[in-house]
Amino acid sequence: MFDREAETMPRRDLAALQLARLGTSVTHAYRNVAQIRAKFDAARVRPDDLNTLADLARFPFTEKSDLRDAYPFGLFAVPRAKLLRLHASSGTTGRPTVVGYTRADLDLWADLMARTLACAGARPGDIVHNAHGYGLFTGGLGVHGGAERLGCTVVPMSGGGTKRQVTLLRDFGAAILCATPSYALNIAEVAARMGIDIAGLPLRHGAFGAEPWSEPMRRDLEARLGITAVDIYGLSEILGPGVAAECHTAQNGLHGWEDHFLFEIVDPQSLRPLPMGETGELVITTLTKEALPMVRYRTRDVTRLSDTPCACGRTHVRIMRVAGRNDDMLIIRGVNVYPSQVEAALVGFPGLAPHYRIVLTREGSLDVMTVEVERTPDAPGDAAACARTAKDVQGRLKSMIGVTCVVDVRTPGEVPRSQGKAVRVKDERAA
Ligand SMILES: [Zn+2]
Repeated sequence: MFDREAETMPRRDLAALQLARLGTSVTHAYRNVAQIRAKFDAARVRPDDLNTLADLARFPFTEKSDLRDAYPFGLFAVPRAKLLRLHASSGTTGRPTVVGYTRADLDLWADLMARTLACAGARPGDIVHNAHGYGLFTGGLGVHGGAERLGCTVVPMSGGGTKRQVTLLRDFGAAILCATPSYALNIAEVAARMGIDIAGLPLRHGAFGAEPWSEPMRRDLEARLGITAVDIYGLSEILGPGVAAECHTAQNGLHGWEDHFLFEIVDPQSLRPLPMGETGELVITTLTKEALPMVRYRTRDVTRLSDTPCACGRTHVRIMRVAGRNDDMLIIRGVNVYPSQVEAALVGFPGLAPHYRIVLTREGSLDVMTVEVERTPDAPGDAAACARTAKDVQGRLKSMIGVTCVVDVRTPGEVPRSQGKAVRVKDERAA
């Protein structure tokens, strides 16, 4: 562990620390951010109303739109000149989301990302191959800072140039691979085509994140790469990567770093807090951030928390694997479907490569979901065989997600490969 004392703190002490830090952080936000002050005043709450952690439920939420409305610097709680770095999300619709870090924030980020990498199995002295994009996206520089803080040798590959990634993975002998899961799969496939046996290399652990993925995909990546793979979680509005991580010991839920964040699960409709263990939307409050303190940020991620003791000895609450984002949820003829559920049904299916894409169209008033899958190079490609595969896959999807889909079996290489964050859904219904 990178910080054994903090990571194994008894839960009662952790709660006391959270309450003390919550008061300080919320006061800092209220005093220094006009928008937060206005929201608190409208909800008739003040920082000194926080006498227990449960009192936070009376406080207003923060949403992604609050960041966009305050574009670019309106939510910062420190003068702009105190910021050492800015990051921003690309923003598929409208303005990007801008986040900033003071020196203390960058220091905290490096510490929590070092914890995260150690939790995933990295040790000081390891070579960390970082295939996350460097730039405005927090993935690249976030992982980078943590790997250096842990005492690792970082290879700042960034995304793309997959053949070169494979060559340097082999030549440098990296122990840790950091990437999105879909890009890790792309690397594994390109390596196989180049005749390089990655599973036979020194690579031991993968820390994968920045998109939802499934348990079957984990097993597939572990087999192809010869590693133990864990899920890591973060979002730029809260910090970037380094908010939570699965331990490689249990591989069962992501330890959320509770000495710096407060995690709640709320009912997505009523927005009322739900008890430990129930599924709902994850809401996060930062406890120690200077530049961009967040009060009850709605992540849109649907999950549940577990406070049962973990085999690794860490006491921090576990965020059970994120099924998907509310925003990613598809409603197909009244049934809720997450792309990661489709993935779980497809990965490992005989004769299919683990690549897929969902295309949504409309026939009359009905939504049609077509799942493009790809046969493996050794699977028969004649029309009769493809039709049989399509029918089998259709049956499996129907039984696992409850929706009848059109299944389109493509030839090897036809489904687009990930270069970072995978684009799983193509929605053609709007036209
Ligand atoms: Zn654990």
